[in-house]
Amino acid sequence: MQKNPNSAKVYLKRIDDWASEEAIKEALFCLWQQIEPDGFVKKDDFLGIKLSFGEEGSRGFIKPGWLSTLIAHFKQKTENVFIVETNTLYRERRSNAVGHLHVANQHGFDIKSLGIPIIIGDGLHGREGQNISIRGEHFENVKLAKGICESDCLLSLAHVTGHMQTGFAASLKNLGMGCASRSGKLQQHTKTLPEITVEKCVGCGLCMKICPANAIGLKRKKAILVKERCIGCGECTVVCRSGAIDIKYDENIVKMQEKMVEYALGVKEVLGSRIACINFLCSITKNCDCMAKDEEAVLPDVGLIGGTDPVSVDKASMDILGIDNVKKLFPDIDPEVQIRHAEKIKLGSSQYELVEI
Ligand code: SF4
Ligand code: SF4
Repeated sequence: MQKNPNSAKVYLKRIDDWASEEAIKEALFCLWQQIEPDGFVKKDDFLGIKLSFGEEGSRGFIKPGWLSTLIAHFKQKTENVFIVETNTLYRERRSNAVGHLHVANQHGFDIKSLGIPIIIGDGLHGREGQNISIRGEHFENVKLAKGICESDCLLSLAHVTGHMQTGFAASLKNLGMGCASRSGKLQQHTKTLPEITVEKCVGCGLCMKICPANAIGLKRKKAILVKERCIGCGECTVVCRSGAIDIKYDENIVKMQEKMVEYALGVKEVLGSRIACINFLCSITKNCDCMAKDEEAVLPDVGLIGGTDPVSVDKASMDILGIDNVKKLFPDIDPEVQIRHAEKIKLGSSQYELVEI
């Protein structure tokens, strides 16, 4: 059979359900040895490892103990290896660098355990961004975290989950949303307005507390939405324990995925071919690790999938999980929008050659 010239190589290393820390650590390093492009890290380069520490109370995030062999390998090449992450848009502890580092520490990430420092790439309050020109359909400029733009090379490590606004969260989300400054994150959130069912509201105020835009108030012990202020982030829908808030899905959900991958294109614009991605297909929960709750896995563990093209790596991850299984997580969202748009704007290819190691 003739090979598709556009297809990228994607590597898969399977792991057992409930694999030990040792087994995942070995699998990660074994996979990286296959992926590592020539000249990916040079002496004295600043290499950022981009991952999420998970919100307080979440459990599925990538564990620091899985990274030690890989980090030791990088440290032989350059002293300037660091973990890079950006502040969240919503008002939990990770919305500023101080709270963020406290949560990282609670989850076992610190210089003592990792042997490398942690940099919050968009600064104390998420305002340290840099404009990057791109050729997108929604944006001509994207606002990325400075700490990402000033890196020489970047390894994205993404814990694969469902996502209430993009359907699927993996490398494209880690690069697109995860590398943006606060204003960049805001730009990606479109008006996916929530709807409040007053009869179900018990007036607890949790939605008001978490809303990053001050768009919810309480009137006669019922939540009310100020539509003009709402940025459509969807956080209120997740904290409401009474099921009183739902996101109204419409064409804006499509736009959000498209905007997110245009941000990922910005990262590629900055770093060129010096990006690599690894998706962790284990403890796959319905919601992402930004949710401050401990969720049960909804799909079986598969292993680790990686390569240098985030589009192929995410497409291969969806295919391995089964696209129908992925779509079941959020039936109103088509998660393949992100793949199609990423391919359209020439971020990468949905065609791949899977190599199981
Ligand atoms: S969706 Fe709107 S109302 Fe809900 S938390 Fe986000 S900004 Fe606030
Ligand atoms: S979180 Fe839900 S129940 Fe509580 S005030 Fe908001 S809408 Fe009402």
